[in-house]
Amino acid sequence: MSELPYSYEAPASQALFDRAAAVTPGGVNSPVRAFRAVGGTPRFMVSGSGPYLTDSDGREYVDLVCSWGPMILGHAHPEVIAAVQEAVARGTSFGTPGEGEVALAEEMVARIEPLEQVRLVSSGTEATMSAIRLARGFTQRSKVIKFAGCYHGHVDALLASAGSGVATFALPDTPGVTGAQAGDTIVLPYNDLHAVHAAFAAHPGEIACVITEASPGNMGVVPPLPGFNQGLKDACAANGALYISDEVMTGFRTSRAGWYGVDGVRPDLMTFGKVMGGGFPAAAFGGRADVMGHLAPAGPVYQAGTLSGNPVATAAGLAQLRLLDDAAYEKVNAVSAQIRSLVTEALTKEGVAHTLQNASNMFSVFFTENPVRDYEDAKKQESFRFTAFFHSLLANGVYLPPSSFESWFVSTAHDERAVQRIADALPAAARAAAEATA
Ligand code: PLP
Repeated sequence: MSELPYSYEAPASQALFDRAAAVTPGGVNSPVRAFRAVGGTPRFMVSGSGPYLTDSDGREYVDLVCSWGPMILGHAHPEVIAAVQEAVARGTSFGTPGEGEVALAEEMVARIEPLEQVRLVSSGTEATMSAIRLARGFTQRSKVIKFAGCYHGHVDALLASAGSGVATFALPDTPGVTGAQAGDTIVLPYNDLHAVHAAFAAHPGEIACVITEASPGNMGVVPPLPGFNQGLKDACAANGALYISDEVMTGFRTSRAGWYGVDGVRPDLMTFGKVMGGGFPAAAFGGRADVMGHLAPAGPVYQAGTLSGNPVATAAGLAQLRLLDDAAYEKVNAVSAQIRSLVTEALTKEGVAHTLQNASNMFSVFFTENPVRDYEDAKKQESFRFTAFFHSLLANGVYLPPSSFESWFVSTAHDERAVQRIADALPAAARAAAEATA
């Protein structure tokens, strides 16, 4: 840690990290949290309030991670907390149906027109895994098209050329995934419809589905080029395959109807997580009623979960969704635009080559002057500049995702004071990025 010029000591976090490393692989429960891409001590957080996180050394940060997306109303929103307290007091899990899960499903279905039915699960990984199984069961086909740099959770068949932590650690393939599990996955370059058409031509009648991030945020933010998602939908329709839009990250974040609310391309199936759980483990997949009707117990494709539709998680998710009206999205979009222009201004002033990309209020900075359209482009950035930028901001109380392959997230709670703290920290961070060497 001490060799990093822009870092500083975080003794309480370091002590916890040492304890954690003894009992947990790498000291964390999800790899990117370990700061391996940027070095230094991961901050162990003890509390969150609005746009701020406080670490175990008592330092406060403006949070631009928002738990990797879910906390769109900021931390400890009073109405979400009240809904959770009320639910907890009634008991934490029944293993039976309950009204909360019906209300959450109704709220989701009301917001997203192609979402006719949903099944609740506990993580985005479970949602994509189950959607793929359903697509295979429905079409009676095996092969799946995914795109390099898109992350759909740690589903065996979907880890090939995935973004997020897999991008951060540059893992070409993950040991433990067998050839049989990955063998039916066709990985194509993102934003390349020619490659999609060629794959359908090469495997007639074999492709069950195309799964894509509705607008990718796991190789940094790389929006679909105009017509790309519609082209995927059309190619699927022409070839008897299902179009699965993974909205785990974009769902209920990029608009009240997620990315569907932005581009209007109708998926056959969709997956959700993050925002819909209000900070609790709740996720979902859903879509066409005729396809969803193939799920057990209505149909033969098995899928289940002890904690699916958990009453506390659904209460949190429902409270959060009900607070997400048009005014809330306007607020998040506006604060995102404000921070984006501050970042661009600071980096431009220091002459740092960069490209800032956004998809609605999701955004990230690539340290390259070229637009980033796919994973190969994303890998060409000067990540060492991100490392310096990250540590300077961290030292000055701004918490970014600890990797240049991740989206930044803001919330309705990011007020003028929080934005000012980012503005104050940016000039030094831009200078650090300018001075960084590989
Ligand atoms: N799909 C997308 C687009 C994601 O961004 C993620 C997680 O970041 C997942 C799926 C997996 O979700 P989870 O981490 O809840 O398993």
